[in-house]
Amino acid sequence: MKKLIIANWKANITSRDEISQYFSIFGGEFATDVVFCPSFVHLTDLIDKGYKLGGQNCFWEEKGAYTGEITALMLKDIGCEYVILGHSERRNNFNETDTIINAKIKQAIAQGLKVVYCIGENKGQDFQEIITNQLEAGLKDIDLTNIIIAYEPVWAIGTGDNCNPEIAKQVKQFILEKIGKDVSVIYGGSVNSTNAKDYLNDFDGLLVGGSSCDPAEFMKICS
Ligand code: PEP
Repeated sequence: MKKLIIANWKANITSRDEISQYFSIFGGEFATDVVFCPSFVHLTDLIDKGYKLGGQNCFWEEKGAYTGEITALMLKDIGCEYVILGHSERRNNFNETDTIINAKIKQAIAQGLKVVYCIGENKGQDFQEIITNQLEAGLKDIDLTNIIIAYEPVWAIGTGDNCNPEIAKQVKQFILEKIGKDVSVIYGGSVNSTNAKDYLNDFDGLLVGGSSCDPAEFMKICS
């Protein structure tokens, strides 16, 4: 199976000009599956670029009077194949609990999206306890066919302090034992073109934040 390399632009790339500049550098075919998760408003600008698309979040209801929300139905309609849910920035800045995330995952799956479910501990926390809770509550009553787990130690996100690949591998094993099924597990947390390959022997792919905003750097990672 091809490795999955997901770009999470967060709210960093903010204009169509920047996107044009980005794709004047980034291009070509890769042996990996490349997924771009730009801002919602820029998803349509990436439709014809030849790569897969994902949302950075979605709402838990199918549709209705929910001013300002973006639903999984809308993401699917616009051509997204993936959605990132449970990212630590949403857990921490927007108070998303495992219960909320569970509802979002159910909605995304119901609309036929593949869910990149982010889990991981913060500094000083017991990873086994945190991850067990996040797996049990976040994935409660969910069929795992379209679930990809992203192990993202919170302390490694955007810090330049990537997790030792051997330790990350042990956490991956723990995740698979807890789940008890064969599920894709990817790694995220300060991945760059120098350390990317250290994870790809053991993980099914990468979730890349900061380095995905630099087209030349992200091309090296995808390669
Ligand atoms: C992320 O936000 O999912 C992430 C992994 O960010 P970074 O690569 O910048 O650490």
